[in-house]
Amino acid sequence: MLKSKTKKLKNGCRKRHYSCHSHNVELEYCSNCSAYCMYNDTMECECCTKKVTKSLKHTWVKRVMLAGMKQHRHFVNNWLMFPTGTKENPIYLEINYREVVYETDVKFLALFQCSTLPPKEILPLIKDNLFIKGIRIWVPDDEFMDEKCPHCNMVMKYNRKGDEFCPSCNPITS
Ligand SMILES: [Zn+2]
Ligand SMILES: [Zn+2]
Ligand SMILES: [Zn+2]
Repeated sequence: MLKSKTKKLKNGCRKRHYSCHSHNVELEYCSNCSAYCMYNDTMECECCTKKVTKSLKHTWVKRVMLAGMKQHRHFVNNWLMFPTGTKENPIYLEINYREVVYETDVKFLALFQCSTLPPKEILPLIKDNLFIKGIRIWVPDDEFMDEKCPHCNMVMKYNRKGDEFCPSCNPITS
């Protein structure tokens, strides 16, 4: 009888990947595998054995929320005036940050926006309510905001540096 070989790709990847929705296992994003993988004590990817960098959790949560505020600032500010949605029917917003699409309840963006508590207290709370919805295959240079240019009414954008601009009045070449 023939032994079945585990297929190994050129980069050492053995396709032992996990959905980022797997809540009960600790995963990290392995850039070599371009996927979520388990890792061992020495931070090696269990799939390709290359080192994975552990994400600086709170810095990462903060960056995602900052992107979320750029993408939903108008909506969040309106929501703060007239909160809608309930515990049973929360309003989820999608946040695109790099290659990942996250999802969170609008109230956590509002909390991030206007809480007077120190970040070390709110970021863990937000982290528990920030979910990964999917992976983007293509990451654009500029992302859309939910605000319109006061001069020409075009939808505003922001670039990777975080500069906000109107694509029509003041296009920034990044
Ligand atoms: Zn892999
Ligand atoms: Zn890997
Ligand atoms: Zn404009």
